[in-house]
Amino acid sequence: MTLKKICCIGAGYVGGPSCAVIASKCPAIQVTVVDLSEERIKQWNSDHLPLYEPGLDDVVKSCRGRNLTFSTDIDTAIQEADLIFICVNTPTKNFGIGKGRAADLKYIEAAARRIADVSKSSKIVVEKSTVPVKAAQSISNILQANVKPGVKYQVLSNPEFLAEGTAVNDVLDPDRVLIGGEKNSLGKEAIEALCWIYEHWIPREKIIVMNTWSSELSKLAANAFLAQRISSINAISAICEATGADVSEVANAIGTDSRIGSKFLKASVGFGGSCFQKDVLNLVYLCECLNLPEAAAYWQQVVDINDYQRQRFANRVVESLFNTVTDKNITILGFAFKKDTGDTRESAAIYLSKYLMDEEARLRIYDPKVEKSQILRELTHPCISEDPSRVSKLVTIHQDPYEAAEGSHALIVCTEWDEFKTLDYHKIYQKMLKPAFIFDGRIILDHEALIEIGFHVETIGKRLSR
Ligand code: NAD
Repeated sequence: MTLKKICCIGAGYVGGPSCAVIASKCPAIQVTVVDLSEERIKQWNSDHLPLYEPGLDDVVKSCRGRNLTFSTDIDTAIQEADLIFICVNTPTKNFGIGKGRAADLKYIEAAARRIADVSKSSKIVVEKSTVPVKAAQSISNILQANVKPGVKYQVLSNPEFLAEGTAVNDVLDPDRVLIGGEKNSLGKEAIEALCWIYEHWIPREKIIVMNTWSSELSKLAANAFLAQRISSINAISAICEATGADVSEVANAIGTDSRIGSKFLKASVGFGGSCFQKDVLNLVYLCECLNLPEAAAYWQQVVDINDYQRQRFANRVVESLFNTVTDKNITILGFAFKKDTGDTRESAAIYLSKYLMDEEARLRIYDPKVEKSQILRELTHPCISEDPSRVSKLVTIHQDPYEAAEGSHALIVCTEWDEFKTLDYHKIYQKMLKPAFIFDGRIILDHEALIEIGFHVETIGKRLSR
């Protein structure tokens, strides 16, 4: 089956970059990315894309206006498409039967209903959003219940594994592409059509075809395993701090074991991002629904250790600063949840800021890619500040790291931006109050050099002495 037009519902961190790459690799396919948000679509059509990703500007510019379109005309894009990717958000619901939290599928349902309402021809519907096992069945039920004469739907699972900060490269050169579908003839035809798109640039042996439920569960399991590795090394970091071992040395030692491997073994102030916590909590919820309490408790620990790590780090900041941060100036370097992205969702910096604001600290925040309005939106969220007016009293946002350090008692590295490694720390030291403290929440700085300058340095998973 040759596809001529595809549509992507949801122009976010997944829909935008993945469809831009598809358009660039498949010049004969018309790709239309649609969204409910007029603002987001306006930005995709401008020189200032709605998200920062290395290499994304070039890919978008190379095909926008040719075979890549961003639009709010959702109905036309659906009607004209042979294949539709659903890339909408699947946030965490405030609902669970235990500690787990269900994924909120209202955006998935709305997208499915829209497809059912407006489609006049057959479609392959591809679930790219991360969803609980059997969500494809719900999508299929909605479509079949509203099907028009002569229209046929095939629903596939094709979870996305890109990571923010490396999204373009991840889509260009993925470890694998997963496709889940039915084994009947219509299912096989749909799987072949989706394979045909990816085979424009990805070798066939990297495309793994499996049953739909395995594909859906594989995505949740992959994120749970990644989050679990971070929580495992962070749990080890607590032992290091208590004993004098060094977590970086321990990580190096265990990472050289080829059965373990070295990736995702970096201790830190904790993982963030829109996916890890949400997907692990969704897995916990799934276990609880399936009456598997021991499995639920196992995965819940991954999230609990992450909370513990952030709280532990915040406690160390307060304890080091003579047990009080009230009215002290604290510089936060980095607000994005990781480097090379402007995304702040579930960022460790948000939680750290909350703990410190609760203690009445004055925060001076700098991030190279996150806009001031975004930082303020996160900090004034009701889950973070009961009284948003306190944020304007306690927080200032700066465009320059040296200005942010001016008059501070302490500086905290929350994001591993490369530029933080090469700042002029002599200059920063001069600007800070003494004793000047640095808390390296990402283990990226040269601690010996900082101690030499005169800083009191604290980091994760290691005791440093002056
Ligand atoms: P996002 O919030 O950045 O984007 C989702 C977009 O969908 C929003 O712009 C929203 O306006 C739009 N939308 C919602 N309902 C719509 C509807 N009915 N019609 C049209 N547009 C609609 O989310 P994201 O980060 O791109 O994530 C999307 C999915 O992919 C989630 O399930 C997520 O778990 C998964 N995922 C995310 C990443 C990541 O790194 N962000 C990686 C892999 C998988």
